[in-house]
Amino acid sequence: MEAAQTETPPAVQDEETAPAFASVVPPLRIGIGYDVHRLVAARPLILGGVRVPHDRGLAGHSDADVLCHAVIDALLGAAGLPDIGCQFPADDPQYAGADSLQLLGSVRKLLAERQWRVINVDSTIVAQRPRLAGYVPEMQTNLARALGVAAVTVGVKSTTTEGLDAIGAGRGIGVHAVALLMHDPSLQDCACITPR
Ligand SMILES: [Zn+2]
Repeated sequence: MEAAQTETPPAVQDEETAPAFASVVPPLRIGIGYDVHRLVAARPLILGGVRVPHDRGLAGHSDADVLCHAVIDALLGAAGLPDIGCQFPADDPQYAGADSLQLLGSVRKLLAERQWRVINVDSTIVAQRPRLAGYVPEMQTNLARALGVAAVTVGVKSTTTEGLDAIGAGRGIGVHAVALLMHDPSLQDCACITPR
């Protein structure tokens, strides 16, 4: 339906009102992360720091922990920092076989140095096999410990694509993640920035 001609147009925010508006907006930032790794033979399957029994594992330069990687990118995105590939380059020998929970601990330090506190993280693992629900609590515990937050702060869910697409065919595992951060000046000089 066409808008009435007499309708008042929305107010345009000018330079004078913008700073006042900014001062009342909570210092919150949201970030999104997504990662996929191929499933291959002769590799362990590690998700959220949990070694999950399976006939194949994820290929990658590090331990290929796709859950940690998606969470890291969500956190970095929320903080306005360069992504995981910039922080931990895949061609850097020091990250060969790296424990991705330790990389997450490094990201925790980056965030704390910039006074970003983690409000919550949520994630969904997309995998046709194996069944992951029984391992989720341990994944949550590991991620929360690496981030220095309560386990309830970190959501981990798992789903399948019902046999559709490459993930449904069992060729890989993907993870979607989001993170919410709050700017907290009290994190200055905080001992909690020490990575695990
Ligand atoms: Zn990855």
